[in-house]
Amino acid sequence: MAPEPEGEPLHLDAVGADLRERLDEVSARLEALKAPPERGSGIGFGKRIGDGTTEAIGRLTDVGVADRLEAVQARLERALAKLAEGSYGSCDDCGAEIPAGRLRSVPESVLCVECASGASR
Ligand SMILES: [Zn+2]
Repeated sequence: MAPEPEGEPLHLDAVGADLRERLDEVSARLEALKAPPERGSGIGFGKRIGDGTTEAIGRLTDVGVADRLEAVQARLERALAKLAEGSYGSCDDCGAEIPAGRLRSVPESVLCVECASGASR
């Protein structure tokens, strides 16, 4: 597939709809992860040690996933806010224009390539 010209305007309505859809999805997954466990209260008496270990590992993995999802959620929310305030497509850090090609592949980009790669935050 030929790369689209950088000058091609983005369809912001479509971008917004896509971002909102993904935000809904991420929020739903986060809610499910954070929901109190339905089966008992973790490691109880009378359980075999193997069960508890598996549960502890599963829990740790969930926390890592939740952290990542929260980061994605924050970016999606920021990108939507930028769409709403009309600053979508300009870097949150230095104000430079974010290339349309980057916005197409990563619509939730709120930083230009330079700031994003230099940011250790
Ligand atoms: Zn920048």
